[in-house]
Amino acid sequence: MTKAKCKVVVKGELCKGCNLCIEYCKREALRIGDELNLQGYYYAEANPEGECNGCMVCTLLCPEIAIEVYSEGE
Ligand code: SF4
Ligand code: SF4
Repeated sequence: MTKAKCKVVVKGELCKGCNLCIEYCKREALRIGDELNLQGYYYAEANPEGECNGCMVCTLLCPEIAIEVYSEGE
């Protein structure tokens, strides 16, 4: 059985650091980074220690439509 790998990407300039995506990601694939964006928010980013499974929950929850998820193939 093959397992699809996915990659989550946050558009940092759109993020308002609300934490919703981080709270609801069951794979701990997102985290808040340590840099401010131009709006003055610490923004979400992919967590290299997590493993995105492409469930898309974060993309549905994000009020700023700041998250994209890509399939990296099988
Ligand atoms: S798609 Fe799912 S597993 Fe991947 S970062 Fe979003 S909530 Fe987490
Ligand atoms: S849900 Fe959207 S706005 Fe909120 S922290 Fe995640 S990426 Fe940023």
